[in-house]
Amino acid sequence: MTLAEAQAGFIPSHLYQSGTHLIGGHWTPARSGALLDVHNPGTSEWLAQVPAGSAEDVEAAVRAAESALPSWRDTSPGVRAELIRNWAAKVDEYAAEVDLIESMDVGRPSWGPSQLAGILTYVAGQVDKVNGVSLPTHAPATLAMTVREPYGVVGIILPWNAPAPMFVHEVAPAIGAGNTVVLKPAEDAPLAPLVLARLAEEAGIPAGVINVVSGIGTEAGSALAAHPRIDRMTFTGSQTTGRAVMKACAANLTPLQLELGGKSPQLVFSDADLDQAVAGIVAGITLNTGQICAAGSRVVVEQSVHDQLVGKLATAFAAITIGRYDEPVHMGPLASARQLERVRDYIKLGIAEGARLVVGGAHPPVGVDNEHGYFVAPTLFAQVDPSMRIAQEEIFGPVLAVIAVADEAEAIAVANGTEYGLAACVWTRDIGRALRIATAVQAGQVHVNTSFPFGIIGAPFGGYKSSGFGRTMGADAVLDYTQIKVISIDAS
Ligand code: NAD
Repeated sequence: MTLAEAQAGFIPSHLYQSGTHLIGGHWTPARSGALLDVHNPGTSEWLAQVPAGSAEDVEAAVRAAESALPSWRDTSPGVRAELIRNWAAKVDEYAAEVDLIESMDVGRPSWGPSQLAGILTYVAGQVDKVNGVSLPTHAPATLAMTVREPYGVVGIILPWNAPAPMFVHEVAPAIGAGNTVVLKPAEDAPLAPLVLARLAEEAGIPAGVINVVSGIGTEAGSALAAHPRIDRMTFTGSQTTGRAVMKACAANLTPLQLELGGKSPQLVFSDADLDQAVAGIVAGITLNTGQICAAGSRVVVEQSVHDQLVGKLATAFAAITIGRYDEPVHMGPLASARQLERVRDYIKLGIAEGARLVVGGAHPPVGVDNEHGYFVAPTLFAQVDPSMRIAQEEIFGPVLAVIAVADEAEAIAVANGTEYGLAACVWTRDIGRALRIATAVQAGQVHVNTSFPFGIIGAPFGGYKSSGFGRTMGADAVLDYTQIKVISIDAS
């Protein structure tokens, strides 16, 4: 795909046919015929249409997943692993196209070399290593063991901020374990998941193993979460929707994994390399325009270096370039008009709450096409009180709140003082302090002197507290999509 084709809203038809989603190996329109338009949020360009699926489409997809289940579950793990490796090879072949399609859909500049194929290969390596154990018994003639079995049909609901990585993070271990999948991508960025499903098909993964139903959350999403024949559910998105999904799952007692939001702290101590910290903090809150669940959106800094750090952050923020997905910039637009309004409202709220606006603000940034894109400037607040809403609530935009603290004890209290617990970063040269903080902070990941551990391909990801429960990825990614059965045999 050339840039000109991309800009014209063209996705090669062998990668995706506008207006279709994938049910039982067929690329079909919604049963109702309804469609949703997909636009580039940085240019307003029309990219494609996707079906506006409803409960009827979800039912068809669940049936397709049920039909595919017996033979997929009984396919040898070695063959399932091989098919996922084939998928990795296809994803690698089309890495540039997939990245460009996601860039256009989300509005972000390229994230550099794609990690998707590597993630698939990593998961494939786990598939033929799913073991049970033999169990001690009281009777010598009795043999007992555990076996790991797939759940059955897995429902997956994704958000819009990084749909391609999340698609492979969830789908690969689910099918690797022998489950079949019905997935609903977000209506704001459904294209990369549909293309990845197409590549899985090309790789030889059988029809019905991966089904993708596009549509809006309150129709296709709620139908999937409430479907009585979904055997296991994975939801990634906001807390509000997570609660609705959990309620729907409760009605059917469907096991559920929730990956929700965050308000991740960046703890900076006076002995830190401040330039290194600033680079990490700025990258952490501007990547994907702050629309990252683990974005470090609160800086908790020792009072003695507060002013120095704020000065350096202000300089770095002012140097952030903003623009379209195809420009060599640091930061793209926000993903939607709704998201722009939300972020601007939080910036106005921060000012009204009495925080000091250092850089940025709610006004449209200069030098970008605000008429066609949802742009916002990176915004820095200092003198933030931990109780302010901009310090407590997930903004999901490039807005950073700096909170001064007296010492390590207060830093830990402030870091733990929100309902979230997804990730945290510590900036210090003192290894003892780094370890104390890493132990005391309630978060699913704690990083020391780095905010982007992208090199850790197998890091389990998930939240403490209201950031969710369960983990995605990691060495147990495939095991997490299995359930344990005990089998005993009296051979006497
Ligand atoms: P969202 O909750 O609005 O939507 C997520 C998905 O749920 C979408 O596919 C949507 O269509 C669907 N949905 C909406 N209403 C539904 C309903 N009633 N029933 C079932 N499904 C429904 O979230 P979003 O705005 O797309 O994404 C942003 C949020 O996702 C942020 O809070 C962010 O922190 C979170 N997130 C978390 C992680 C993580 O791994 N912890 C990763 C990325 C994003």
